[in-house]
Amino acid sequence: MADQNYDYDVLVIGAGPGGYVAAIRAAQLGLKTACAEGRETLGGTCLNVGCIPSKALLHASEYFDAAANGTMKELGIDVTPKLNLDQMHAQRRDAVEGLTKGVAFLFKKNKVDWLNGYAKFKDAHTVEVGGETKTAKNIIIATGSAVTPLPGVEVDNDNHVVVDSTGALELPKVPKKMVVIGAGVIGLELGSVWRRLGAEVTCVEFLDQVLPGMDGDIRKEANKIFTKQGIEFKLSTKVTGVTVKGKKATLTLEPAAGGDEETMEADCVLVSIGRRPNTDGLGLDAIGLETNKRGQIETDHDFRTKVDGVWAIGDVVPGPMLAHKAEDEGIACAENIAGQTGIVNHAVIPSVVYTWPEIAGVGLTEEEAKETGEVKSFKFPMMANSRAKTNHEPDGFVKVIADAETDRVLGVWCIASVAGTMIAEAAVAMEFGATSEDIAYTCHAHPTHAEAMKEAAMGVTGKPIHV
Ligand code: FAD
Ligand code: NAD
Repeated sequence: MADQNYDYDVLVIGAGPGGYVAAIRAAQLGLKTACAEGRETLGGTCLNVGCIPSKALLHASEYFDAAANGTMKELGIDVTPKLNLDQMHAQRRDAVEGLTKGVAFLFKKNKVDWLNGYAKFKDAHTVEVGGETKTAKNIIIATGSAVTPLPGVEVDNDNHVVVDSTGALELPKVPKKMVVIGAGVIGLELGSVWRRLGAEVTCVEFLDQVLPGMDGDIRKEANKIFTKQGIEFKLSTKVTGVTVKGKKATLTLEPAAGGDEETMEADCVLVSIGRRPNTDGLGLDAIGLETNKRGQIETDHDFRTKVDGVWAIGDVVPGPMLAHKAEDEGIACAENIAGQTGIVNHAVIPSVVYTWPEIAGVGLTEEEAKETGEVKSFKFPMMANSRAKTNHEPDGFVKVIADAETDRVLGVWCIASVAGTMIAEAAVAMEFGATSEDIAYTCHAHPTHAEAMKEAAMGVTGKPIHV
């Protein structure tokens, strides 16, 4: 039963993984809840044009690559793959449709009202959405993020020549030559998809290494592995402009530090230089809420903004732009609104790059850990892990970083075929304040890739068995 003065106890703006999860939890806690969404379907960036469709293409193209590049042959399976790109796209669209409809079902089941349209604040307890005015005691801003534009480069997803991540999911044919601007997560994931399906891929990166924010050893190893797979990297280079004539693009590049200009031709250019928070048109000025220098909405530990009754979560607030971080914040925020104690431990948010092999990490990088004091670390190579070796997956390693004095685990990083699954163990261990010895003396099933985590932890105290 809502507070008599308002239509709702909670109104969530945005139905991405932050917003829809917050709405469901609020409703579960007995609060009368609505969720406004401007898109025609629920699920936000993640389900519609992000995590899910990109993983659908990564999964399918991984099989194609294994058949095309000789991995299957090594296993004793002789096949010559033939690409049916229409079917690959169809199964991607199916996955998206099924999951977005699933959220609509969950809204119905939990009695969350879905308000169609972009919401705009009139005051701190009132929004206009779909031509109607709705009031709520609490409003959660979960408007997410959108692609950061690159000055001098115009994205036109319908022409399929200069595209952003959304356009790169919808290419109707495999480009012959693709240039990816930005060797971050999106560049490497979607660059990998099209490389596997036959495109010649060059990644132009402003910094001197790929995957900013990740552990230094991981960044170097990733560069080596992707280069071996056929992606060409042009590091310390910036794109200063792209011109399009018909179906061809010409890029102008310059060394990041300045110098002679060069040009490069491509059939497709993917702009993936980051994402920025969505606050345009939200009417933040009507409630006196300002964004920080990065365009984000600042909150306190409980996800309260400076304006009473207005909360914010997900990509629109500081922190890594990740779906699971948004979801956890959504749950915690709803619990705080209901008077419970909702907490997110931002020191333990895993991140995963879903390439082949996968790349995953949680906690501090070795570089960050060293800034906090003396550390010890150990890298266990996947080549020495019996399961990875047997499966013909020799690339990568697991690295455990611990405090030299207390042995408490500060960070774990891995490159391995199933690194995304393996990292959950490290996250649980860190959440419980584990030492490397705790992981080393935990029995791990044999033969599994997870044994590499145990061996890396054993290595921290100088006692690995298999290297
Ligand atoms: P969003 O998912 O962006 O949802 C916000 C929603 O709010 C949108 O649907 C938008 O239409 C709506 N909205 C905005 N303004 C208004 C308004 N005024 N009124 C009503 N509705 C509004 N993260 C991962 O963790 N794993 C991955 O594998 C992964 N892969 C990705 C792949 C790609 C290609 C991309 C682009 C992103 C990926 N991400 C991934 C990032 C992930 O999608 C985001 O971190 C996540 O979606 C953020 O959730 P959110 O709820 O904060 O916002
Ligand atoms: P990113 O921040 O990961 O990478 C952008 C890269 O572009 C950086 O390396 C940056 O140095 C480079 N860059 C910036 N300007 C440049 C320029 N002018 N020329 C050349 N390079 C330039 O951003 P992204 O890959 O666009 O991803 C956006 C967000 O989406 C990320 O924050 C990520 O967390 C999220 N995401 C997550 C996943 C996942 O979890 N698997 C997948 C996709 C996206």
